[in-house]
Amino acid sequence: MNTAPRPLLDRFGRVHTDLRVSLTDRCNLRCTYCMPAEGLDWLPRAQALGDDEVVRLVRIAVGRLGIASVRLTGGEPLLRRGLPELVGRIAALGPEVSLTTNGIGLARTAVALRAAGLERVNVSLDTLRPERFARITRRDRIADVFAGLAAARAAGLGPVKVNAVPVRGVNEDEISELAAFAVEHGYRMRFIESMPLDAQGAWDRSAMVTAAEVLERLGERFDLLPVGRRGNAPAEEWRVAGTDAVIGVIASVTRPFCGGCDRVRLTADGQLRNCLFATAESDLRALLRGGADDDRIEAAWRASVAGKGPGHAVNSDDFVRPDRPMSAIGG
Ligand code: SAM
Ligand code: SF4
Repeated sequence: MNTAPRPLLDRFGRVHTDLRVSLTDRCNLRCTYCMPAEGLDWLPRAQALGDDEVVRLVRIAVGRLGIASVRLTGGEPLLRRGLPELVGRIAALGPEVSLTTNGIGLARTAVALRAAGLERVNVSLDTLRPERFARITRRDRIADVFAGLAAARAAGLGPVKVNAVPVRGVNEDEISELAAFAVEHGYRMRFIESMPLDAQGAWDRSAMVTAAEVLERLGERFDLLPVGRRGNAPAEEWRVAGTDAVIGVIASVTRPFCGGCDRVRLTADGQLRNCLFATAESDLRALLRGGADDDRIEAAWRASVAGKGPGHAVNSDDFVRPDRPMSAIGG
C-alpha cells in the first residue's frame, strides 16, 4: 500500500527534502584546494554502492522520507559508468535530479543525461585562463570544460550554474571576469568560500576569499541588486541591474546558512551524513548488505537526521575537521 511520505524532520524542526548522492570518490582533476597531486586512496570498487543499491536508497528517500530533489556529485560523477541509465532510474522515482561536475566529458554525455531526466548541472570552473586552469587543477583540460558548458546549455540542462572557489593569490583577480563570462553566456555564476575540507589539511583561513570580498570586487564592475527570496538555498543571490543575470555567493564559512539546511548526504560507500561537516555517519551499506528491510533503513535514516546538530563550527576554534575530505563526502 502506498502512503504519503512522512517529513524527514530534525530536532530543530528543519524538514529535509534535498539528498546529495556521491557516485564515486574518484576524479580526473586534482584541484589544489580539494586533493593532492597524487590523488587519494580511492575506495575499492566492492565498497562502493552499486546502481541497484543507490536506486533502492533513493526509492526509500523519495517514497518514505519526502526527498524531493537529488543532486548527484562526487568525486567526479561523470566517471561513473552507465550514468545516463542510473539517472533515468532515479528520475523515474520522481525527484528533481541535478548534477555537480567538473564538466570533463559533459560534451559527450549532456544530451543522453537530459534525455534520461537530468534537469540541471553545476559546472566547476575557477578561471578562464588555460595556464591557470592547468595550475589549479593540475590538468590541461579547460577546453573540455568550455565544451561541456556549451553542450549542457544546448541540451537544455539549465540554468547552467558555474561554480568557482576563489583563492587568494590564485584566482581572486578573476572574480569579475568569471562573472562577466557567465553573464555573457547565460550561465549563473556562483562563488563558493573555500572550506577546510581539502584532503591535505592545507586550508588556510587567510587564503580564503570571503563573500564580502567577492561582493566588493563584483561591485566594481556590476550594479548588483539583492534577490529577496532565499528559501533553503545555500547561495545568496544578486541580479545584475538591467539584465536577467543572477550571481550567487555561497558563504559557508563567514555567513553559514545552517538554520535553513534541508540537506542530507550519502557517500559513494553508502554512509549517510547529516551535515557536510559531520564527524559521524550511519552505515546504510551495512544495512543494505545485511538484508535489512525498508522499515529498518527508514528508521536508521530518521535517527541520523534526528541527531543533526544546530550548525557547524567552521568559524570557531572548536571546529573539528571531518575524517573525510570533500571529494569523498560529495560536495
Ligand atoms: N568534481 C565535481 C566538481 O568539481 O564540481 C563535483 C565534486 S566537487 C567536491 C563539488 C564542489 O566542491 C566543486 O564546486 C568544488 O569546487 C567544490 N570544492 C572542492 N573542494 C572545496 C573546498 N575545500 N572548499 C570549497 N569548495 C570546494
Ligand atoms: Fe575533482 Fe571536483 Fe575535487 Fe576538483 S573539486 S579535484 S574536480 S572532486
